[in-house]
Amino acid sequence: MTVFRDPIALQEALKGLQGSIALVPTMGALHLGHRTLMEQARQDNDIVVVSIFVNPTQFLEGEDLENYPRKEEADRRICELSGVDYLFYPDATVMYGHDEVHICAPDIRAYVLEGLLRPGHFDGVLTVVLKLFHIVMPDRAYFGKKDAQQLALIEQMLRNFFLQISIVAVDTVRENDGLALSSRNVYLSDAQRQEALKISSALNHAGKMIAQGVRNTEEIIQQMQQIMAPLEVEYIACVNRAFQYLEHIEMGNSIILVAARVGTTRLIDNVQL
Ligand code: AMP
Repeated sequence: MTVFRDPIALQEALKGLQGSIALVPTMGALHLGHRTLMEQARQDNDIVVVSIFVNPTQFLEGEDLENYPRKEEADRRICELSGVDYLFYPDATVMYGHDEVHICAPDIRAYVLEGLLRPGHFDGVLTVVLKLFHIVMPDRAYFGKKDAQQLALIEQMLRNFFLQISIVAVDTVRENDGLALSSRNVYLSDAQRQEALKISSALNHAGKMIAQGVRNTEEIIQQMQQIMAPLEVEYIACVNRAFQYLEHIEMGNSIILVAARVGTTRLIDNVQL
């Protein structure tokens, strides 16, 4: 595995290589969720590039940019073990230098849920993802369904800019007890971790209600609220794949999303139906 900090040097290394190129963008503090993306990328492609960059432009004032877990050595080992060919590890000066142009997320999908609560977050995500796409020019890029709204916006950006990159969406990887893996889980105390399980329990409960034939989203959300009551719930929402709110679940076209704080840690999760 070769590590690059300089985008131009990485571009030079990739130039002229034969075979399909995969890109797995991450912010590091790698866990089994990230590893699943890398392993899928390894299976499908000849060359695997992983980027690790804690992107400052997607953090809002007062969020955890400074404290975001950074584990360079461990991450490097995990990438090596996952068969990664190139690890791209830039710093913010290289990525943003003298930027005057940036991407603005579209209003429909970006101004609800995460986009509403974290204004500007998706502008930062799309800007950095577009930069990474241009640096690596991958055939396929791997993203987790856990960040469902992010995924929808990236797919929209690809269509809008006619980028010929296939997006591979990977199912959310969970602990045995249901907690979705997240780099931010390290902030949780044992007691908070137990509390956090209410998020996946609520989503499971919604799944059961739907399996029993319930379609009314108000009824589903009400019961989820009861399960999640001890947490500071930011939203529970049922939307279609275009992120429009639904009164009734449409099978094959619905996502139930939640965001909640456990202590000061903000967690998101979802189930796709
Ligand atoms: P992050 O480092 O949190 O920015 O995540 C990098 C990529 O890994 C994103 O595409 C995430 O959606 C994905 N990811 C994060 N957590 C999980 C998980 N538990 N299961 C699957 N993918 C995940």
